[in-house]
This record gives sequence, C-alpha cells and structure tokens, in this order.
Amino acid sequence: MKRITSFFKSLRARIFLLSFSLGVIFTVILSFIVGFSYKREEINSEILSVSSQARIINSAVVTTGYINGTDNESVRQAIEFSAQALSGRILVLDSSLKVIKDSYSLYEGKTVIWDIVLQAAGGESASSNDEKSGLLAVAVPIIDDTKSSSAKDSTVIGVLLFVKQIKKDSDNSSAFNQLLILFLFFDIIISFILAWFISKAIMKPVNNVATRIDSVTKGLVENELTPDKYTETAKIYDSFNAYANRMKTLDESRQEFVSNVSHELKTPLASMKVLADSINSMPDAPVDMYREFMGDITGEIDRENNIISDLLTLVRFDRKKAEINISQVRLNTLLEEIMKRLRPLADKASVELVLESFRPVTAEVDETKFSLAISNLIENAIKYNNEGGYVHVSLNADHQYFYIHVEDNGLGIPEESVDHIFERFYRADKSHSREIGGTGLGLSITESIIHMHKGEINVHSVLGEGTEFVVRVPIHYIADDADEKQKDFKI
Ligand code: ADP
Repeated sequence: MKRITSFFKSLRARIFLLSFSLGVIFTVILSFIVGFSYKREEINSEILSVSSQARIINSAVVTTGYINGTDNESVRQAIEFSAQALSGRILVLDSSLKVIKDSYSLYEGKTVIWDIVLQAAGGESASSNDEKSGLLAVAVPIIDDTKSSSAKDSTVIGVLLFVKQIKKDSDNSSAFNQLLILFLFFDIIISFILAWFISKAIMKPVNNVATRIDSVTKGLVENELTPDKYTETAKIYDSFNAYANRMKTLDESRQEFVSNVSHELKTPLASMKVLADSINSMPDAPVDMYREFMGDITGEIDRENNIISDLLTLVRFDRKKAEINISQVRLNTLLEEIMKRLRPLADKASVELVLESFRPVTAEVDETKFSLAISNLIENAIKYNNEGGYVHVSLNADHQYFYIHVEDNGLGIPEESVDHIFERFYRADKSHSREIGGTGLGLSITESIIHMHKGEINVHSVLGEGTEFVVRVPIHYIADDADEKQKDFKI
C-alpha cells in the first residue's frame, strides 16, 4: 500500500500519466481526422458516381427534347434505372426549376428552390450533406451544348437533382469503426508500455543522483560528486558539492573551535595543578610561599571563569535569533559611563583616557550589548598600551550612521595578525595577552554585537605605533527582514 502511494506521489507517475494521456489523446484526434476524411471520401465518391450518371441522363434529356416536355419512355426508364443504380432519387427540373420527372413520382409539377438547385441553375454543380438526417443531395446543371460549339456559350436548360439517404452505419463505415476501435485499443496498450519506459528512462538520471548523494552521505564515497552529462543533474551535483563543502568547512571550524576551547580551558587547570602539586610536595614550605601559590591559583580560577563567561556570551550571540532589546540610547551618556567604569584600569596602567563627543547622538541600540562591545575595544586599548600612553574615544554621526573611533598609541598589531584578530581565541601576542588575562574572545564578541546592529567594524594598526578601531552603526535599527543596503565601509 505504501509503495503504491509513494508511486502515485512520484515524479515518475506524473511523467507516465502525461506520456500515456498524450499518446491516447493523439490517437483519438488522429482517429477523428481519419474518420472524417473517410466519410468525406465516401461522399465524394457518391458525388462522382452521380455526376457520371448525370452526364448520361443529361445528353438523353437534351437530345430527346424531354426537358421541353416531349415524353420519352426510354429517357424515363434511363432515369429510373440510374436512380436504382445509385440507390437514390432523381429529379429532373426544367429551366423554371419545376420538377418534370421524379423517380419517386411525388414531386412532379412542383418547384424546388434549394440553394444547390439555384447554384446548379447558374451553371455550377453543387452538393449538400446534412449530417443529422444523413441526406446527401447533388444538383447538376443540364446543359444544352447542341446549339453552340463552344462550351462558353452553352445554356443551362434544367437541373438534375439527386437525393440519397446515406445510412449512418453502412457496412463500410461500421467495418471502419470496428477497425478504429481496434486501433484505439492497441494504441492504449502501446501508449501504456511506451509511457512506462519513457518515464523510467527520464527518471533514471534523477534516481542516480539520489543513489550517488546517498553513497556520499553514508561515507561510501569520499570525493565530491563528478559532474553529470545532463545539464539539470549536473546543476544538482554542483549544488550538492557546494553544500557538502560548506558543511565540511563548518565542521572543520566547529572542530577547531572545540579543540581551541578545550585547550584554553585546560591551560589554567594545568597551571593550577602544577601550583597545587608544588605546594603538596613541600609540606614545610613557608606560609608566604603558600599565600603566593594560592594567589596564583585564584588568578587561574579567575581566568577560567572569564573564558567560560566569554564563551557563554558568544554561544548566546551565535544562536540564530539572539534576542536584541532595542531602545533609544543617548550614546554620549553611555560612553561617559563606560569611561568612568574603565578609568581605574587606565589609571592603574598609567594610560590617559579621553572622550570627545562631536555632537549629541541618540541611536536605537541594545544598551547592554552595545556597552559590552565598546567596553571591549576601550579595555583592549588600555591593556595593549604602554605606560604614559593614551586612549582617545570619539563619537560622531551623520544623518544615517553614528561613528565611534577608539584610538590608542600602544603596542599596535603585526600586519599579518590584523586580519585574524576577530577570530575566536586569536591573540596577536600570545604571551602578553595571557599575562594580562586575555581570553582571545573579546573582539569576536564585539564583532558579533556590531553585526547584530547591522553595523561594521574596521581596524587600522601599525606595530609599535598604535591601533584605531572604527565602528559604524545605523542610527535607526534595521530589522532582519528590512532591506540591508549598506555602503562599502573602509577606513
Ligand atoms: P584578548 O582577550 O586576548 O584581548 P581580543 O579578542 O579582545 O582578545 O583581542 C584579540 C587580540 O587582538 C589580542 O590578543 C591582541 O593581540 C590584539 N588586540 C586587540 N586590541 C588591540 C589593541 N588595541 N592594540 C593592540 N593589539 C590589540
């Protein structure tokens, strides 16, 4: 039952039904055309035999003067004989279209003014066939060509009307109809077989695609799928390969992330273990040493904590629909608060912290997230700085975007590292970063937050001279489904 249902839902069933119906429809139309031509042919042959009989009667009628009222037994007999031979009725009409002879002797003396009779009186043979009554009528002009030698001058002196009831199911046509039915029956069988094979042949490449994709999915075939000879299936293979490559890249980056996370989480643990083992192996160590080691262990615990909380923040942002609570935020105030919070850190590192607001800016942002993003930038500018250095933060805006610059004259970033600093766990200067408690996740978090706001972040740095981060974000929040036409943004 399931197999039957799945067959009827398949593309093959549709192709089969389509080819089958086309086959049958084509034959039915063909049968109609053949049947119609056959009938026409039947009528035409009937008209032909009437015409030849008409010629015989015509000369008899003219030469004997029968048409002018001269009774002639042999002409009458000839007419009746012809009517019998043609299995119909013959009427002879004079020039005023009055019947002078009816082989059925019913219409004599009456006038017949049918269309075809009028046409024949004009000199042209005419016929009519009434499908409903099955009545075939042929009118032939009776021409007196004895008076003139040229056919042009011949005059129509009467009309010969032949009427015949054509049997709807004559022997011939019923045999023909039987033949048609047989033809139709064979056609149905042939169409069925052909449609079956056509649908199978068309679906073969598609089924092959499924089999080959299956084998790749099951890991039986490692390589990419090789292109196919058909355009459509080749496209499917291309798309599948692109998809498989994307999955591969994703999987690789996930594996790399997991191994980075494990490594980062293990490092503080390893340090703690070394410190704890050292204390354990020295039972008589002085209290100061214990304190120092315990202080180091606490430092490592803090580091582990920072990594875990940064990781959690990142994972939260990674979720497709990270919640974003947009509100109107006065950015000048927000920056002042961040500066106030980070001032003790700057003082400790002897770094000067300056905020320059070019104009009051109110924008639609998620206050908590945005504050975290900018804090990370300013914190880095303080951390990766020299004693006596400065951090310059500025806020500006145009009618569409606001801009935040975070500039320092600190350590700078090596050229080869600039493109990587937004990667997770990437640190340009590993030892220094670790020393100051960096997790390598801060800029990834900042970048995620800026992108959530449909903004851009760019960096410009010279090693040994300093670094500048520029953030550009739309003043009015652009929801995900809105058109995201953004200009290229480079500093
Ligand atoms: P971390 O926790 O190590 O600071 P981040 O993701 O915040 O991690 O930064 C990545 C790396 O980028 C840092 O380790 C550092 O080498 C470099 N970096 C970031 N900001 C600055 C800056 N203002 N000056 C110099 N180097 C920086």
